[in-house]
Parts: sequence; C-alpha cells; structure tokens
Amino acid sequence: MKKRKLQPESLMMSLGYNAHEHQGAAKCPIYQTSTFVFNSCEEGKNFFELAYGLRDKKEGEEMGMIYSRLDHPNMNILEKRLAAWDEADAGAFFSSGMAAISTSILTFVKPGDVLLFSSPVYGGTDHFVHHVLPQFNIGVVGFVKGEKEETIIERVEKSYPGRRPSMIYVETPGNPTNSIIDIEMTSRIAKYFSSKDSRCVLAVDNTFLGPVFQHPLQYGADLVIYSATKFIGGHSDVVAGACTGSNQLISQIKGMRTFFGSQLDPNSSWLLQRSLETVKVRMEAQAKSAQIIAKYLKNHPLVEKIHYLGYLENDSELKEIFDRQCLSTGSMIAFEITGGEKEAFLFLNNLKLFKLAVSLGSTESLAEHPATMTHVDVSPEDRVKLGISPSLVRLSIGLENPQDLIDQIENAFEVVKKANSSAVC
Ligand SMILES: *Cc1c(COP(=O)(O)O)cnc(C)c1O
Repeated sequence: MKKRKLQPESLMMSLGYNAHEHQGAAKCPIYQTSTFVFNSCEEGKNFFELAYGLRDKKEGEEMGMIYSRLDHPNMNILEKRLAAWDEADAGAFFSSGMAAISTSILTFVKPGDVLLFSSPVYGGTDHFVHHVLPQFNIGVVGFVKGEKEETIIERVEKSYPGRRPSMIYVETPGNPTNSIIDIEMTSRIAKYFSSKDSRCVLAVDNTFLGPVFQHPLQYGADLVIYSATKFIGGHSDVVAGACTGSNQLISQIKGMRTFFGSQLDPNSSWLLQRSLETVKVRMEAQAKSAQIIAKYLKNHPLVEKIHYLGYLENDSELKEIFDRQCLSTGSMIAFEITGGEKEAFLFLNNLKLFKLAVSLGSTESLAEHPATMTHVDVSPEDRVKLGISPSLVRLSIGLENPQDLIDQIENAFEVVKKANSSAVC
C-alpha cells in the first residue's frame, strides 16, 4: 500500500465531507440556515461552553454547530480545504479580503501598539493602515523592497520608542508592481520584536501567488491572508477573504470574527468550494499565458518598463528571493506605456477582450489603471516612490487564448501609435 501524502488538488473534492452523512449527495448541499437545532439543553450548554472557551474539550468531545455567524458546514469544509493548500492547522473565511485583513490585524494589534507594513500594498489595505488604524492610536511604519533588516528595525525604534510592534504585515508580490519582499527576513524582524509574553505576528498577504505558487508558512510567516475574491474564487462572481495559520492564532481570529460578524455566508462558501477544485489548473494555465504575453510586451517599442516576475534581473537580490520563495511567475503583469496618463487611457479604452475593471485572478482577463483606480488614495509622493506612475497599466491574464489577447493588445497599441504620430504632424 502506497502511503504517500495526498496532494492538495486530490483533496479538494472530498476533504471534510462525507456524502453518507448528507443523503448521499456527491456535492455538499448549501446549508442555507441561520441557526442549528440542539438535541437537548445539555448539548446546547456544552456547545456554548466550548464556543466561549469556558472549558477545554473533554476526550472525544466534538463541537457542534450553534449559529451561522460562528460556524456553518459550507464555511467549515472550505476552511479545512484552504488550510490543506497552505499546510496550515486551520483556516478562517470572511465576507471579503478586507474583512480578513481588518479582523486579523485588530485581533493582534491593540491601541498603543505599532504595525509594521510593506509597501506598496493593495489600495484598501493602504487606506486601512494610514487612515483607520491611527484613529485607534496604532502607530504605523512602512518599508519597501530591498531595505535592510537593521534599517527597518531602527526606523521602528526611532519612530515609536518604547511601543510594542505586535504585527508585521507583508504583501508579496505587492499590488500593483509585483514588488517582492523577503519573507524570511521579515520573520527575523518579527522574532527580534517578540518576547516570551508578547509575540510579534508575521502576516503575509498571499493573494497574488497563493494558494498554489507560494507557501509563506514555510518561510516563517505566522498567518497567510487572502482576498479569496481573486484567484481562489477565480470567476469574478464572489467577494470573500481568508486567513490560515496555527490552531492557536486562527482560533483567536475566529473569536474576533464572531463579534465583528465578518464571516462568509453559505452560498458564497459553496461557490468557493467549487472554485478550489480548479484553482491549480486555472492558476497554471493563466501563468503560462502570462509568460507568452509578457514576452510580447517586453519587446514592444511602446513599452517603457515591464513589471513581471519572469523579468527580474539575473543575480539580483530580488531574483534570489523570488527563486527561494515563489514557485511561479504568476499571471499579473504591469507595464509603463511610453507617454503618460493620456496614452495609458487611450490604450485601455481601446483594449478589447480584456475587461476594463479592477480585481484580478479571474477566468477573464482584466485591465486597469492603478494610479487613478486601485491606488488613487496612495499619497502622490508614495506613488512616485513605489513606481505607480500615470503611465502604469496593470493586466491580469485569464483563460482566453493568449494569441487572441496579444492581437487585442497589438490593436490597442496601434491606436496609441496613430494618435502619437498625428500629434507630431
Ligand atoms: C483585492 C485585494 C485585497 C482586498 O480584497 P477584497 O476581497 O476586495 O476585500 C487585499 N489584498 C490584495 C493583494 C488584493 O488584491
């Protein structure tokens, strides 16, 4: 008998689900219910004692369902399945990526503490960090790719002497420019700021490459965070978020989720169960197409600069980090078109087949303009520093035929070229 461990893609159709407990239904039914019936008052009492952590589980005792804000079968199965991808003890799902991010941060970062974060990050996260957390007297300190460990530590200690950095929040590859942060390096910083009775938690937003192509827990992260709206959902039809990690950290986060009410509903959970069955084939096919499209873009005369993980400089520090922690170049491409906002808009307005929309990681290819859309709220100085220029265009490559996509890109470039030459005459 072969005893090799099953790979996650083999588990996505069965993990956590026994058809014989559900009238033989091959697929888990949608449990569209808000509440669950107890067998007796004694059972209800036991469940509540466990839910509030009033006592430990007795030997062989199983926790049952109480109310769908705490837990429900569709979300429960989904959490086990995502945890399998990350080789984590446990997972938690949320009503959006931002719900996952805000709930997780506020579980560990308390008023008076400091949050250390990498930039650029997703625009919503950037707003939360700069405009919401300070309202709760939480100090925030940023760092960018390539900065040294000592420099970052010194900045924290100088900016907030005596205050406790309780979380490091890293997004890698970062939205929108695919900037890479060394997870192992940030894990050393987290250790530096941890003591016996106060832990600095390292959370990594794994939306761009996870759950298939990057496994942050292997490199010292404590929590992996997702916008499940993107690759995990993969069809632009669900908004959801997730977090995976150790039993201890995830149960603290779930405790907070219960009172924020930021859990995922049964119908969306069911849709994501379906999505997880194909996440690997989708991500692999999308990455393969992106490689073909990036190669085309790299040599185009109207492309000033391309931000794609396949084109990191050989022998550079970033390439070394990429080789160590990423398993694929992914399907996100950003590039600067020759010119500025006018040329970028002209290109995007004439790009067919791609949908002009924010979001990413879906079956259909999407295109957007970060400086005026997803990252409009990033301060102008930071936009310059982070390379979010007016000429930057972001593409998320989907499952269309890559040559068809290239034809459409070529057509849009032609329009820009014509406009440029008529402007010169
Ligand atoms: C979209 C996104 C988020 C926010 O997720 P929502 O599901 O839109 O709330 C967070 N991080 C990254 C990297 C994203 O792309």
